[in-house]
Amino acid sequence: MKIIDLLGTRQPMLSFEVFPPKTSDKIDAVHTAAMEIAALKPAFMSVTYGAGGGTSAYTAALSADIQNQSGVPVLAHLTCINSTRDEVRAQMLALKEKGIENIMALRGDRVPEHHETDYHYAAELVREIAADGSFCIGGACYPETHPESDNSFDDLLHLKEKQDAGCQFFTTQMFFTNGVYYNFLYRVREAGVTVPVVAGIMPVTAAGSIKRICRISGATLPQRFCRIVDKYGYDPRKMKQAGIAYATQQIVDLFANGVNAVHVYSMNKPDVAAAILKNVSELLR
Ligand code: FAD
Repeated sequence: MKIIDLLGTRQPMLSFEVFPPKTSDKIDAVHTAAMEIAALKPAFMSVTYGAGGGTSAYTAALSADIQNQSGVPVLAHLTCINSTRDEVRAQMLALKEKGIENIMALRGDRVPEHHETDYHYAAELVREIAADGSFCIGGACYPETHPESDNSFDDLLHLKEKQDAGCQFFTTQMFFTNGVYYNFLYRVREAGVTVPVVAGIMPVTAAGSIKRICRISGATLPQRFCRIVDKYGYDPRKMKQAGIAYATQQIVDLFANGVNAVHVYSMNKPDVAAAILKNVSELLR
């Protein structure tokens, strides 16, 4: 099933994300976690793609296993900045042969050990996938502006270029204050972007990683959330419960304001995905 058709139903929905491991010895553990998340029957699942090697080839296999074994539609991520055109085409072919109908088309971040590439920006990849004609195409967007962008205006111009190239929906980078998303949506529409913008929510369940995540993603942590980390960050169980509650509050507020599609960065954690789903189960009926 194509994600754009799911989004067209305008029903409240949650999607969950899994990421393949960096090393092949963790594949079995990730596979098990992914299947447990799929058993929760989210609207769809996304499987990320390691830019430049690692287990990036595993994205197609894991995507196919999830979709074939659970029936949950999969959005397979694909990056281009560390790839040649031939490598990208091979990955597209692998996804098509496995029955994957949705690709999240991304630039990715350059990894130092890779020199050869035929791409500069995600829009080039989007154009290529659109020309193939087989896939529903998603793209990334940044409510707090992509970290490399000089200003938010240019960032939105480039977002519009991705829509013009063939992106049928966007998923946001994580944000921790819903006002950031609502303001962004207003500016996105002003810039002529008309496709659905799925809200990306990250349940922060461990204090250790949050500063690094924010530095990489460009997301800001509000004082309200910092207080929670200060108070509960020392205790993994308390932090996990507080992080799930915070993400739940964000999701309830989004649904209440008519944002129907929420993507949860569930980070290979079935228990976190299950807790969030349980917290909003009535809202999804
Ligand atoms: P682009 O859309 O190409 O934008 C990158 C930067 O270039 C922006 O600053 C943009 O404004 C600028 N730009 C675009 N076009 C032009 C132009 N013509 N001229 C000048 N500047 C331009 N990374 C992974 O490695 N694997 C994943 O699976 C993955 N999944 C992600 C999912 C989501 C929802 C998000 C939000 C991010 C994900 N990322 C992933 C991270 C992503 O690869 C990085 O944020 C990357 O730096 C940008 O990718 P992009 O597709 O947004 O790039």
